[in-house]
Amino acid sequence: MSRIAYVNGRYLPFREAKIHVEDRGYQFADGVYEVCEVRGGKPVDERRHLARLERSLGELRIALPMPLTALDVVLREVVARNRIGYGMVYLQITRGVARRDHAFPVPTPAPAVVVTARGLNSGRNEALAAKGIAVISVPDNRWGRVDIKTIGLLPNVLARQAAVEQGARDAWFVDRDGAVTEGASTNAWIVTGEGTVVTRPADHAILRGITRTVLFDVIKARGLVVEERAFTLQEAYTAREAFVTAATQIVVPVVRIDGRPVGDGRPGPVATALRADFHRHAERT
Ligand code: PLP
Repeated sequence: MSRIAYVNGRYLPFREAKIHVEDRGYQFADGVYEVCEVRGGKPVDERRHLARLERSLGELRIALPMPLTALDVVLREVVARNRIGYGMVYLQITRGVARRDHAFPVPTPAPAVVVTARGLNSGRNEALAAKGIAVISVPDNRWGRVDIKTIGLLPNVLARQAAVEQGARDAWFVDRDGAVTEGASTNAWIVTGEGTVVTRPADHAILRGITRTVLFDVIKARGLVVEERAFTLQEAYTAREAFVTAATQIVVPVVRIDGRPVGDGRPGPVATALRADFHRHAERT
């Protein structure tokens, strides 16, 4: 079965799904995106993802191309047409097509909208979570507005590649003060020796992950203490546990940072419990 993509109003087989050479997403990374997990054929926490999309578009002054209710219909249609039970749906909106010039085009073009979906291997993801992952640290060399979910991801691409080349799965960005900001495509967390769950506050230095937001409810429901504060790489090295969160990964324990074992080098009970609880708190409508 050919995969189907939504491109600017049409549902097309992949080989026909094309974007203009002067799309500003292609030329300037002038656009935003969202990724939702799909479970039981339904997007998870879609309402929150669409709210974040609207915020990202607003920060870049790109108009919402259609009401959120219409985007919801498109997302579900792409999931259905690709027969995704468990997987992910990807949505990208760019400023549209215009002759190449850095400033916003006049007149304003229609934003370009692309939606794709694909299945994920749940067995593989569960095995990864059961084993835990290794991460490396890299200097955070990104721009100052990574709270906007833009498609400009070159530092993230290079960080992930560095991780892969060093036999690790993710890279944690570290700021000039030695504090961890977030992963290349994840939010970063630790559990202290006292059992407090710590993650960085969602300012302009990290993306406010939807999984991160929902996880606060999961943590509180478990009766655990959570603290939003910056933590250093040194603190992460000696943490009792560490883990990452992202929509298609939920909670994945980190068992090595820069080659050093975290805790006893195995997935910890807090990360494992939070992962198990997560979907009781996420929305699926
Ligand atoms: N941080 C970055 C840089 C990301 O790219 C992502 C997800 O793509 C996240 C955090 C996690 O966000 P979410 O939980 O909404 O998937």
